[in-house]
Amino acid sequence: MGKTYMGLPRDKIPWFPAIDYEKCTGCLTCVETDKNAGHNVYEVEGNPPRPVVKNPYECVVGCETCAKLCPNNAISFPSRDELKQVLKQLRGTL
Ligand code: SF4
Repeated sequence: MGKTYMGLPRDKIPWFPAIDYEKCTGCLTCVETDKNAGHNVYEVEGNPPRPVVKNPYECVVGCETCAKLCPNNAISFPSRDELKQVLKQLRGTL
């Protein structure tokens, strides 16, 4: 069985960062934060280097730290309401 979040299959929960490459300057703060926290959501690719969301389901559900630290507001997540709706649907309580 894969990873779970509160008993629900993690790969059914669409919670992970999306990067707006129009805004991203490649500072890699998001990647460092991710690695320092022991996660493996991001990898660095390309030249010049830029962050890529390689392992979206390694992302901690509800965590938006990388988005908060991005100096260019280039990272977004679903809204809390969207997350709640998905969790309710998966639990069969909607
Ligand atoms: S923190 Fe923001 S600007 Fe810096 S690499 Fe990540 S997405 Fe790009």
